[in-house]
Amino acid sequence: MTTPEHTMVGIHSAFALGLHRRYGWQSVAMAGIASNVPDWDGIAMFVDMARFESIHRVWGHNFVSILLTSILLAVTQFRWDWLGRIGRLFADRFSIPKQDSPYSLTAARSNFGFLLFFGIAFAAQTVHLPCDMVVSGGSGLNDWSVEPWWPFSDVGYVYPMIPWGDPGPTLILMSGAVIAAKWPHRTIIISRSTIGALLVYLLVRRFVTPV
Ligand SMILES: [Zn+2]
Repeated sequence: MTTPEHTMVGIHSAFALGLHRRYGWQSVAMAGIASNVPDWDGIAMFVDMARFESIHRVWGHNFVSILLTSILLAVTQFRWDWLGRIGRLFADRFSIPKQDSPYSLTAARSNFGFLLFFGIAFAAQTVHLPCDMVVSGGSGLNDWSVEPWWPFSDVGYVYPMIPWGDPGPTLILMSGAVIAAKWPHRTIIISRSTIGALLVYLLVRRFVTPV
């Protein structure tokens, strides 16, 4: 999946679970950001293009990396509330009313806040893996497996349902985001429907109209 698609999967998942109602917008932002963290191994492109294929979808797409980066995200958020700082910068820059939820004030000061952000970061990164597994191949490209147990095992998994560059997920996820923005009080049901529509689309493309 692409960066915008991973981001929207994270955000819709957080909305679908109602995290924004319970824990404030920071929980949704954390899900959207963490959803992309496994792709840090894409920096291989700038370091060693010859080894890109063997590094990308391996170094960052495994549970050791997911565990360590989730701790890093949660510790830094817990210690410095960088989500809150970025949010306030945006609010000042674009004259948006500041919306500090009551929870965000206490979350930064309680151990539960750390566990909450850790859990969201870990879950969002874990969801990234199957999202990558189902988007693979097509247009003469090879299937690109994910190795979740690396560095302990090189076993890779891939289950192509749609090819690279398929516009379907972007259209579905973006439509859901636009509809949710239009009816913010219906966010939970809209995001659940969006994720449901994405799953149906993947199943139809895999079994009804395979590439
Ligand atoms: Zn990825």
